[in-house]
Amino acid sequence: MNRSSNSVLVIDGSRIFRNYLSTHLSALGFKVFVCQDLAETKQTLEVRTDFVFVVSCYHLLDAEDGEVIDLLLENNLKVVVLTAKFEQETRQEFLKKGVLDYILKDSLSSVQYVIPFAKRIKNNQFHHALVVDDSAMMRRTICQLLESQYIRTIQACNGEEALQQLTNNPHISLIISDNYMPEMTGLEMIREIRRHSIHDDISILGLSGSDDKTMTAQYLKAGANDFLHKPFNQEELFCRVNQLLNMQEATKELFKLANQDALTGLWNRRYLFDTIGKNVADRCIAMLDIDFFKKVNDNYGHDGGDAALTHISGMLKAFFGDQIVARFGGEEFCIHYRGEFEKFCKQLERMRRCIEADHVEHQGQVIKYTISIGATSMEGTLGEQIKVADMRLYKAKESGRNQLINS
Ligand SMILES: [Mg+2]
Repeated sequence: MNRSSNSVLVIDGSRIFRNYLSTHLSALGFKVFVCQDLAETKQTLEVRTDFVFVVSCYHLLDAEDGEVIDLLLENNLKVVVLTAKFEQETRQEFLKKGVLDYILKDSLSSVQYVIPFAKRIKNNQFHHALVVDDSAMMRRTICQLLESQYIRTIQACNGEEALQQLTNNPHISLIISDNYMPEMTGLEMIREIRRHSIHDDISILGLSGSDDKTMTAQYLKAGANDFLHKPFNQEELFCRVNQLLNMQEATKELFKLANQDALTGLWNRRYLFDTIGKNVADRCIAMLDIDFFKKVNDNYGHDGGDAALTHISGMLKAFFGDQIVARFGGEEFCIHYRGEFEKFCKQLERMRRCIEADHVEHQGQVIKYTISIGATSMEGTLGEQIKVADMRLYKAKESGRNQLINS
């Protein structure tokens, strides 16, 4: 298994299927390799085996009984099997062998299932799951299943330990938890997690082997997103997990759409005021804009103006990537900086000089521009600080532009 690879392998006797899958998988950003039979697959595997996953037909012209699947599994590859027949026995056999999933290949459209699956696998690489259960065997089983789909895992044997893990690992995006555990139950743990809004993004899947019919409701009321009865089969778990992660990603995407500037990808004014909150200690603010931006637009067209805006956004991300940078509208930007004012000003000055020395290439033309900056570290509300920074920005304009005013 190779997380850094971006390659997938498609094995199918039909050229139409191969082309169809290649086109769609390439569109997702995968580098697609194709083989039409077992012989070609053997050749390919001699050269490379670092595929994120393989989509392979069960029956090939030179291997009618699934020999290719065995070959792929021997090479420790993650395989999605395309099969023309669905039989309970075949299904069990596949899953027992360690196949990721199987798809009934009854028409071209049925293969459309592969695309969301591929998307899921690609995105899973960014997720970390915390698996909480007092049974070590159960933890191991769930972790193995999740890892087979590239989700990284962390374990905890009770609610208390899980809360500790959550503090230590802020990137956890999914929690799968049992209820009955010593020290702290799953329900108690979930209630504690949901008390803090910083954990709102985390999806929680409750598990329980209890016969208690009210368990589902108890979990959901405590703040879990979904619930699964033990024992469960692997497909059931994957369906739930996939659904939770899909939903989580869609919510994030919506948040971005509402709070980010479409052209530059920077935060917008709404985000700064609504999400960053009112009073933050040791906060510095800088307001800056492009000098004579109207001239850039007049001379190079709005495309040229957009190129300059994209360029300055790249600079802002490069110099202040660990801070909050927002496009306020037009050619005006705001940097919300946590730290020492002196350091902040030095960094602003470095960026100003860098922009002055740099240029933007746009449709064969060279665009050069400079920026003016006003900065403050005064105490006050965000609105008050922005007002002061804005006044200093105005002063910078008055004093000849292309400079930083910080007092
Ligand atoms: Mg238990």
